[in-house]
Amino acid sequence: MAGISIARAAQVLRPPEDGLRYLRQDRAGELTTAPGELTVDGAAIAAFEASRDAPIQIDASGCAVIPGLVDCHTHLPFAGWRAHEYAQKVAGVAYQEIARQGGGIRSSARSLAAATDEDVLAQAGAAAAEMLAHGTTTFECKSGYGLSVAAEARSLRLAAALAARVTQTVTSTALLAHAVPDGYDADSWMTAIAEAMPQLLAAGRPTALDIYVENVAFSNDNLRQMGILARRHGLALRAHVEQFSTHGSVPVALEAGARSVDHLACMPPDDVAPLAASETAAVLLPGAAFLGDERLEPARELADAGAICALASDFNPGTSPVNSLPLIIGLAVRRYRWSVLEALLACTLNAAWVLDRPGVASLEVGLRADLLILDGPVDQLPYRLGHNPVALVIVGGELVHVRPDQAWRVDR
Ligand SMILES: [Zn+2]
Repeated sequence: MAGISIARAAQVLRPPEDGLRYLRQDRAGELTTAPGELTVDGAAIAAFEASRDAPIQIDASGCAVIPGLVDCHTHLPFAGWRAHEYAQKVAGVAYQEIARQGGGIRSSARSLAAATDEDVLAQAGAAAAEMLAHGTTTFECKSGYGLSVAAEARSLRLAAALAARVTQTVTSTALLAHAVPDGYDADSWMTAIAEAMPQLLAAGRPTALDIYVENVAFSNDNLRQMGILARRHGLALRAHVEQFSTHGSVPVALEAGARSVDHLACMPPDDVAPLAASETAAVLLPGAAFLGDERLEPARELADAGAICALASDFNPGTSPVNSLPLIIGLAVRRYRWSVLEALLACTLNAAWVLDRPGVASLEVGLRADLLILDGPVDQLPYRLGHNPVALVIVGGELVHVRPDQAWRVDR
């Protein structure tokens, strides 16, 4: 018997056709938001009609039903926070100066090393619960606060342990080139991780490798090397590029077959067209860009050119301690002059493409029932900035979160 019936929704967000792996951003307007109903049977969406037989009946009158949100770029798990650095940044202290004082990525590496596994998992688990209440049903973990082979392996093990204890679908990315560890230069560290790959892969089964290309971190040559390493081990390549300064990294990442290029505030205009023509996603992180007072990413241009755009929180203790995707959607709509449909596409289907998890973020019969019931129509989402619109969350066909003031909608 069908498990959950959702009746009288004011809007159901559907793709223009079933089976899409991604939808280019210039087609976001083809998503539909007609009124509708939906039945979940087992872990999957069974039909776009209500069922009187379902043991759980949900009254979605006035609500939007949308896919669960996918956060395709976070730095979980980490330990502690760096609020004092944010105060310094707001007061005008440069990141390079903060790093010289022992802050930045090295500070988070020290906190991670000092924390027990249980402390790290408790902080990350609490964050995952907060993210679930804000509609995130799939998220990515990254290593990168290890800064040694053994500590990176531990970080990957912790990500796997987190995946086993949270409600969401979790993927793991090995950000093996984040900051250059003491005792190495960038090239000798790349050699060290290439040799340690079997140990690192056994630790946590990551599905992607990642690298931070910046003056204070790694180069385009290192990006090329990471691409070779990813191909050799059958992993996807992700890359943090063009965040604080221009390095011309997008063509290098495209040539290396990257699944995504992330940040992009300082990307040259000439790189928009080749990126938009590729299957490499442009991952935009408006929380980090806003809190860092960064240059505006060419997000409008990328969308108009038909790039595969994704949005994410970049949740991390340094540049983006934000994990609410509704807030990220609100920032993206205002900063990028995107429609709400563009922002939702970038947090659902296209973000799932970045993580290579098809079927977790589209409302189609037969797909996994990861979906949200919002307390109003979708255009309220960016407009009521800071409000959490998530009334109910269904993950894998289970009703896993009910906002207390919305409990009246559920009849069991
Ligand atoms: Zn990042």
